Amino acid sequence: MKLLEKFFLPDTYAENVFSVDLDALKEKGIQLILCDIDNTLVAHDDPHPDHRARAFIEKVRKAGMECFLISNNRKKRVSGFAEKCGAKYYYSSLKPLKRQYKRILREHGFKIEEVAVIGDQLLTDIFGGKRMKFYTVLTAPLYTKDIFYTKINRLAEKVIYLMFEKQGKIRQGEYYGEIL
Ligand SMILES: [Mg+2]
Repeated sequence: MKLLEKFFLPDTYAENVFSVDLDALKEKGIQLILCDIDNTLVAHDDPHPDHRARAFIEKVRKAGMECFLISNNRKKRVSGFAEKCGAKYYYSSLKPLKRQYKRILREHGFKIEEVAVIGDQLLTDIFGGKRMKFYTVLTAPLYTKDIFYTKINRLAEKVIYLMFEKQGKIRQGEYYGEIL
């Protein structure tokens, strides 16, 4: 059970990325936010960053942090989206593997404790972030439409949510600030 917490229990669970308390992250010493795109900032494969998505990235900058977009989606989707927001991006990231995260730390010189991940999936965004010991922010998926692989992940997620609920940790759809 402790393993489940170690790898899947987020530090924060927010209704969506737009409601994440950026000042609180900044106060924790976070300098870089690694934000997922699909179903976190916009709908899956939506090529256009809408005003909310753009405003979020701007808000991160105004709060004195950097925002990079990190996605498992393909180059064309990620680059097209990120360039419209003027954000640095990493595609085909294979989250939850550590490789891409390590590359980002290496290329930009951030320390582990200066990085927060934000994303809608326990098995990719949160698992990857926890493996790296980053600060982790889980958001509810913006929309219910997912690709096939994500649908499988959602089933596994459901089991994890149920176990957390049983332990009185988090309940799916009930949002918290600090969890731990
Ligand atoms: Mg996602």
